[in-house]
Amino acid sequence: MSAEGRIPLVDLGAQYRAHKDELDAALRRCLESTSFIGGPDHEAFGRDFADFCGGGSTALCGNGTDALALALRELLGPGDGQGEVVTVSHTFVASVEAIELAGWKPRLVDVRRDTGLLDPAALAAAIGPRTRAILPVHLYGQMVDMEAVCALARRHSLPVIEDAAQAHGATWAGKGPGQWGDAACFSFYPGKNLGAWGDGGAVVSRDADLIARIKKRADHGRASKYLHELSGTNSRLDGLQAAVLRVKLRHLKDWNEKRRRVAGWYDQLLTGVRGVERMSVAAQATPVFHLYVVLVEKRDEVLAGLKARGVDAGTHYPVPVHEQPAFRHLGLSPGDLPVTHDLARRCLSLPIYAELERAQAERVVAALLTTLAG
Ligand SMILES: *Cc1c(COP(=O)(O)O)cnc(C)c1O
Repeated sequence: MSAEGRIPLVDLGAQYRAHKDELDAALRRCLESTSFIGGPDHEAFGRDFADFCGGGSTALCGNGTDALALALRELLGPGDGQGEVVTVSHTFVASVEAIELAGWKPRLVDVRRDTGLLDPAALAAAIGPRTRAILPVHLYGQMVDMEAVCALARRHSLPVIEDAAQAHGATWAGKGPGQWGDAACFSFYPGKNLGAWGDGGAVVSRDADLIARIKKRADHGRASKYLHELSGTNSRLDGLQAAVLRVKLRHLKDWNEKRRRVAGWYDQLLTGVRGVERMSVAAQATPVFHLYVVLVEKRDEVLAGLKARGVDAGTHYPVPVHEQPAFRHLGLSPGDLPVTHDLARRCLSLPIYAELERAQAERVVAALLTTLAG
């Protein structure tokens, strides 16, 4: 079976089939107890997820974008449209949208060529009198150099909000998201390393008061059923998603381990292959390979060649945020962030998920080699 058929970029069906009984039972329990908002799974999952992250507490919310916007709102107060939050352009657009949703101004900086992650030197150069916060993005499942980021944050008394939407379980120097910054924000979009069956998100922090404020803000500012202390919003994780996530969380360590094994196969199979540049992993980082990204010339042709050979690869991300029509108002041109521009042009994401087998990884690499030779 594994030696034939298309190889998708992610295979959520394989994950469901492997854990169907457990997941179906959790859903049924939730349906029978009608715990659609809040409820025992919601409570338990929040606690379990904070434990998984190495401590602190969790505010569950509607999606990862809201998690970021809510954390920014509570840490910085309402935005004035002038104060800047520094982040990268080489990311999913939500990292930047969240800054604007919270009312602040995105200040986009370039990334490191070897990892594709926030460049601490570019960050240092961007910090000025208008800077209000730093938003590092742990892209592809590898954490940013958080020692460097936190040293800069301390020197300038700036809060750090981690975008950990692709990094559930990753560490830097042995500590995960939420153990470095003031808050870490996660997405449970279905394709993420820990994915719901719909949308979901979370903020994790060691600051229990911050988490309490975010929970309140995300539930109409409620102090109790009919008492609204803040003008808030509705961004809740529903009970069915919490039930699914609670089951899946038990497998996340194992899934991340398996993703690392797949990445190891690709590393090995691609060593010495001309025309394929692999991304680096820093010595202090233990990544969780949300994505396995390589750099190739004529990327779109390679992508099409792989597709023709039954391999669904991806591009993360082909148009950087500062080159998107929606962010023209930031006033940046492609050449302002040259590394970001170059990575966007050449990045290619190979299929990766826990259930991917060695024979499939070999087929992906064989298809890549044939495509490159043609
Ligand atoms: C998925 C993602 C988000 C947004 O999460 P949603 O749940 O889709 O709102 C934010 N940042 C990054 C880097 C992401 O990959």
